[in-house]
Amino acid sequence: MSEKSDQPFCGSQSIAERERLLIEPYAVHSTHTKGRKYPEAKQEYRGPFQRDRDRIIHTAAYRRLSHKTQVFTNEAGDYHRNRLTHTLEVCSIARTIARALRINEDLVEAMALMHDLGHPPFGHSGEDVLAECLENEGGFSHNQHALRIVEVLETRYPGFPGLNLSRETLEGQQYRAAKHNETHSPSLEAQVVDAADSIAYDSHDADDALELGLLDVEQLQEIPIWQRAMKKVNEGDDLSPTAMRRAVVHELIDKQVEDLLHTSASNIQKHQPESAEEVKTLSPLVGHSESIAAQKKELESFLLRKVYRHASVMEVRDNAQQALRELFQSLQNNPDLLPPSFKGRADEMGLRRTICDYLAGMTDRFTWREHARLCGN
Ligand code: MG
Repeated sequence: MSEKSDQPFCGSQSIAERERLLIEPYAVHSTHTKGRKYPEAKQEYRGPFQRDRDRIIHTAAYRRLSHKTQVFTNEAGDYHRNRLTHTLEVCSIARTIARALRINEDLVEAMALMHDLGHPPFGHSGEDVLAECLENEGGFSHNQHALRIVEVLETRYPGFPGLNLSRETLEGQQYRAAKHNETHSPSLEAQVVDAADSIAYDSHDADDALELGLLDVEQLQEIPIWQRAMKKVNEGDDLSPTAMRRAVVHELIDKQVEDLLHTSASNIQKHQPESAEEVKTLSPLVGHSESIAAQKKELESFLLRKVYRHASVMEVRDNAQQALRELFQSLQNNPDLLPPSFKGRADEMGLRRTICDYLAGMTDRFTWREHARLCGN
């Protein structure tokens, strides 16, 4: 660090200095931020992306992730991931990768904490119902909805709607919402969050499915990436089946992170971008080796067949979708049942979109409660 300042805490000068020392020129530096839609004064003790992270953590949408389905609803037990614990696992993996690649951890953390904010209750099952309800009004996607939450729906500041996040934080989510169809690549920080999301769910969905008895270890042993992780763990002590399973899941994450770091570092080395702007002109640099990418694909298609489409998951899915459809119908027939804050928006945003904004914000349990109250069963 350069000269010690008179201030007893880290000021904006030293935040910039710290980034210059710790992260690469092609990382996103907070001094180069394109700012916020509604200009705000800099804060002395927090950089812009730290501030974004804190704003996201203080939203109602973030807190509600704790009662939203990742893959399995909370009736199934207390072991498996919910949308919040998934988000925290993604964040932890993404920060590790960001630190190792010497890119902006604060930005990575903000984007990781935000990445699933737009999920409605019951995960992708809920998303499909809302997409169906808004078929002729632009549809519904959780990635797009996360942007709507942070730009419009959260009203926590008197001076502007939404959270007024930095453009760099929003850009990561815009890339996800555009389903990667943008003409340029996103920042390395956004690429890392995407990769960490996939590393987290590939590993924890297998772990959760085993714990819930939807899979047994023998079935997973047919999958090369699991097989290899198991072989590595087997080289150590004799473990009980549960200890073995947990060790394999850790090994699975470790293996993917290691592969991603080596492959991405070599891509960066090859292209030698000089700035974060140049990164956007190159094809994505963060990625897995061909071999691990193929093995991950195989694991994902196995999970799709054996877990996401498991009869017990499908049964919950059908019931949850039915409840959401009935709730939508009942609110459409009687918009006076909407809470006043939503009712006031229907004229401007359209009734169907407003109902979906309301439904998307619900937790699983609140959906069931509202369904019982408004639909009478
Ligand atoms: Mg996710």
